[in-house]
Amino acid sequence: MQTEPQDNSYYALEKLRDLIHSEKFGAEGRLPTERALAETLNVGRRAVRRALEVLESEGLIWRRQGAGTFVGEKPDGWSDHVDALVAGTDIMEIMEVRLRLEPQLAQLAAMRAKPAKIERMRYLADKTGQSSDGDSKELWDGSLHRQIAQSAGNKLFLSIFDVVNRIRQDAAWQSIRERARKTGTNGRTSYQQHIAIVDAIAARDPGRAGEAMREHLLMHQERLIRATSLEALDDHSPEGEQIGIRDDDTLSVAS
Ligand SMILES: [Zn+2]
Repeated sequence: MQTEPQDNSYYALEKLRDLIHSEKFGAEGRLPTERALAETLNVGRRAVRRALEVLESEGLIWRRQGAGTFVGEKPDGWSDHVDALVAGTDIMEIMEVRLRLEPQLAQLAAMRAKPAKIERMRYLADKTGQSSDGDSKELWDGSLHRQIAQSAGNKLFLSIFDVVNRIRQDAAWQSIRERARKTGTNGRTSYQQHIAIVDAIAARDPGRAGEAMREHLLMHQERLIRATSLEALDDHSPEGEQIGIRDDDTLSVAS
């Protein structure tokens, strides 16, 4: 095993910060192992371990026993129960819950988000829009939606959001999500929808924020329906073809 001088910890920290911002990890935001990080970054494992401790204390990463290190904030201890939920959940059920939960969170965020958090939302919306591959797009999109949920200022709501978010990002849905991204409207629409949500929050307009979030999630739902039916038929549907979504399957969020 390699022994590194202490002063490499700062170097490791800077390298790890770059890595976290470079999007070079999977859809679940899982970082490589300590050993792999040490090799990739060409620093000692002790330096990597210390740097990870710093990042963890800053809330930029969190660790789960036996599962690894993840980018982002720890989802409030719920994650241990989530595996069981994933097994018994359908991806369309996740969308139904998101459609009822996230517009309400956007409404609350429009009332309570601090200016610094709104700036952070804009940054995350830009990162999502700039991401070229599916994995990083999902990661940044997840961070944006979580920032909005966090800005709602209700810990119980946030815990519920985290459970849903963890289930939706599960590897079990990887292929269907990949397919959903390739169907329907393009990434530009998603970007514009994110901006519309953040603008409404910045304007302190709960009704408009909730409605913008609802529209965004309805688009996701439509893509998933299309992707699911394509997967079932193993056939191609003409680009832009309408898929009917019953509008009564939604909750009014406008006040
Ligand atoms: Zn989104």
